[in-house]
Amino acid sequence: MTDKAQTTPRTITERPARPVIALVVPCYNEEAALPISAPILLGVIDDMVAREMVSAQSFVLCVDDGSRDATWSIISDLHTSDKRIKAIALAHNRGQQSAMLAGLMTVRETCDAAITVDADLQDSPAAIIEMVEKYRTGADIVYGVRSSRESDTWFKRNSARAFYKLQRKLGLETVYDHSEFRLMDRKALDILAEYGESNLFLRGIMPSIGLCHDTVVYDRNARTAGETKYSFGQLVATSIDGITSFTAQPMRLIFVLGLALLIIDIAVSVWVLVSHFNGRAISGWSSLMLSVWFLGSIILISLGIIGEYIGKIFVEVKHRPRYNIAYRLLD
Ligand code: UDP
Ligand code: MG
Repeated sequence: MTDKAQTTPRTITERPARPVIALVVPCYNEEAALPISAPILLGVIDDMVAREMVSAQSFVLCVDDGSRDATWSIISDLHTSDKRIKAIALAHNRGQQSAMLAGLMTVRETCDAAITVDADLQDSPAAIIEMVEKYRTGADIVYGVRSSRESDTWFKRNSARAFYKLQRKLGLETVYDHSEFRLMDRKALDILAEYGESNLFLRGIMPSIGLCHDTVVYDRNARTAGETKYSFGQLVATSIDGITSFTAQPMRLIFVLGLALLIIDIAVSVWVLVSHFNGRAISGWSSLMLSVWFLGSIILISLGIIGEYIGKIFVEVKHRPRYNIAYRLLD
């Protein structure tokens, strides 16, 4: 997918006049942020209801991802005071991706479209309204794209850029500067439910499912309260997960490396043989050099061939749907 998202729907999709929108909020140790962010999110819903954009049944679903602080009791109190704050709690901390997926699968049948929003309101509440507008005019998936990364540290900004570039080089479809802030309509959620893999990386899956998509550009704010839940190690782990759950390309690189070494081996062999016959080599060096280079490249090529087969198994075991149906006219 290119940065320029497809904006014209293939067919004008029938949209309910007042869609039910679910804001899905993954929460891990968010006791500081939730009391501030939940009322703001409800305010966004009120605003959209007042503008007659969405149904008054629209709601917020908080997913407590096994928090160790007072998050769950805060969510329970919020639910008591306003039933539009709904919640589920995971039995233990499974990470943001799993928390979002649990939330999306919970709201799938009770909403027309769901938007994943971080609990710290780094995703601009105003952009939620723009997303719903794009949904109402036909987009099935709307990606929130950050206008700049100035609120990030130098390291996070540059490592994120390098990660996007690497993903693209490895053949992954990704939306540049899009994190997890996105709208998905019922159709997109139904397709997502077909993906049975346990290592689910939503940012990679969503662009690969097709459908009509669009983007909303927004300024990412600083965290409302509390601290980031991602340590450096977790960021690295998420990046590795993002690549390895999508592509077997790194294994193919082993094969390419083996071939490159075999070519270099030819040059090295010429040099070794010339040195040998010129008497510049000590006894045993020539045979050792020739075998080290030759065997090294053969081993890498063999590993690459095995990698190709493992790559096929990797794709097969995911049992991803082979096609996704966007529209049906069957009656
Ligand atoms: N989060 C989660 N489980 C985790 C880590 C994070 O549900 O194991 C949630 C967190 O509560 C927040 C969102 O994921 O709503 C994004 O996390 P955070 O703001 O810490 O990430 P950052 O914005 O610093 O990348
Ligand atoms: Mg954040």
